[in-house]
Amino acid sequence: SQQLLLKMRPNGLPDEQTFEFRHVEAENLEQGELLLKTLYISVDPYMRGRMSNQDSYVEPFQIGEPLAGGIVAQVMESRVDDFKSGDIVRGNLPFQEYNTVKADNVSKVNTHGLSPSTALGVLGMPGLTAYFGMMHIGEPKKGETVVVSAAAGAVGQIAGQLAKQTGARVVGIVGSKEKADYITEKLGFDAAVEYKAGNLEAQLQKTCPNGIDVYYENVGGEIGDAIWPHLNNFARVPVCGAISSYNLKEEEVDLGPRVQQFLIKSRVKMQGFLVGDFAKDYKEAYKVLAEGVSAGKLIFEETIHEGFETIPKAFNGLFTGENIGKQLVKITEA
Ligand code: NDP
Repeated sequence: SQQLLLKMRPNGLPDEQTFEFRHVEAENLEQGELLLKTLYISVDPYMRGRMSNQDSYVEPFQIGEPLAGGIVAQVMESRVDDFKSGDIVRGNLPFQEYNTVKADNVSKVNTHGLSPSTALGVLGMPGLTAYFGMMHIGEPKKGETVVVSAAAGAVGQIAGQLAKQTGARVVGIVGSKEKADYITEKLGFDAAVEYKAGNLEAQLQKTCPNGIDVYYENVGGEIGDAIWPHLNNFARVPVCGAISSYNLKEEEVDLGPRVQQFLIKSRVKMQGFLVGDFAKDYKEAYKVLAEGVSAGKLIFEETIHEGFETIPKAFNGLFTGENIGKQLVKITEA
């Protein structure tokens, strides 16, 4: 069975020095354990932080140890009463083709008749993140203007649609024409800003003539800077991520927060959050997300790479913006 491990901490975007593949033997199964076959692996932007040796909300990956993250797997063998061979489960697990785990490290997945991959996207961590960040912190209201950055990604695609359902006007910031078409034509966003096309300021003025009431922050950097002057009084800014800074090299000086003057002037509420803060309300979110998907009211995409060896490429693709919707690696069929 293959495993992907961290070989060297990257400085900037990970490259061929960063990762290594290794063969490992599956461990013997003991009472209380499951043997799992990995079906889908989730690559997520936050994993970049764990590749650095920095103090954060999750501990760094260790050099020589496997990477880990969201996995959907199938039970091959069970020595636990509540699980049987064939069950589909989800967990935060080492990036391996097979894992032997204690049963309390995974939970059964209700796929609602959809592909099990959705448990890593719209009906998983990114969907929950979009829901809580937008609905509990952003709190959009009818007629307000909501802007979502990384709007065609796993979190952004859901966050924008949830805002739209409240009757807000929703504008998405994206890196390509294809993504702009996706969010406006397929997801029903009111407008798109293509930040790579230049003249962000003019694009924002045109798409947000009444200012911005909620800015769902996924990217930070220059995009954030362009947004701040447009924030209306009492705007809300759920700070979900800042992907534009994740691959800054050690020698690249971050200019630091440049937002304070605007927060004060416009009495903006800006709040960082982690999806895990809302664990007690996951049920509420799953219900809204699953019902939205079943009713065809929440549309989503997945970009799926095939094969264990594509994990590094799929991960880096998050930073070049190659994905529409949730970026995943399919390892094998159920
Ligand atoms: P996405 O599916 O949105 O993939 C990342 C996207 O970010 C890319 O497709 C790309 O789209 C965009 N991007 C990459 N680099 C830049 C850049 N330099 N400037 C602007 N846009 C860029 O990822 P997720 O939906 O999984 O995550 C989105 C954000 O949410 C991330 O910041 C992540 O860290 C955060 N997050 C936070 C959580 C929390 O609990 N707080 C939980 C989950 C995610 P484009 O082509 O448009 O540039």
